[in-house]
Amino acid sequence: PMPVLAVVGRPNVGKSTLVNRIIGRREAVVEDVPGVTRDRVSYEANWAGRKFMVQDTGGWEPDAKGLQQSVARQAELAMSTADAILLVVDAVVGSTTTDEAVARVLRKSTTPVILVANKVDDARGESEAASLWSLGLGEPRAVSATHGRGTGDLLDDILAIL
Ligand code: GDP
Ligand code: MG
Repeated sequence: PMPVLAVVGRPNVGKSTLVNRIIGRREAVVEDVPGVTRDRVSYEANWAGRKFMVQDTGGWEPDAKGLQQSVARQAELAMSTADAILLVVDAVVGSTTTDEAVARVLRKSTTPVILVANKVDDARGESEAASLWSLGLGEPRAVSATHGRGTGDLLDDILAIL
């Protein structure tokens, strides 16, 4: 069976955009309105000749209280089913209480986790990305899912742990 990469994070951080970047196609639904992606949709990816599955998540009601629990539950599911996890955070917004809650869950993960600081569209965003060290998940990998900035390096890091 192919290894599975799960992409988790709160709505609107760019998970589906990043999934499209990873699979090289526009199949994951990207929306300005949070919560459009249905729960856990899988796509086949191929990078440097290695095949793996990428699992996009979403589909929560953008209701503040339920949201933290839903994202935390998705992270727990990912920990039990995936071979590697990407936690995506919006570097422009910075770390929110929901991001902190999900990071708390993922810090206990035995499945390897890579922290992705998305929406770093240019060099100015690098310092915002660095502030995400505070989530306690190691070095934030600064990327721009829309422009592809940093995503090649991220994919190399993913293959190294998958
Ligand atoms: P999801 O809810 O986490 O799946 O987020 P989406 O992929 O649907 O993206 C939410 C919004 O963020 C959309 O308007 C995207 O175009 C935008 N977005 C995603 N990635 C980036 C990025 O790297 N830079 C910028 N500036 N916007 C992005
Ligand atoms: Mg989505």
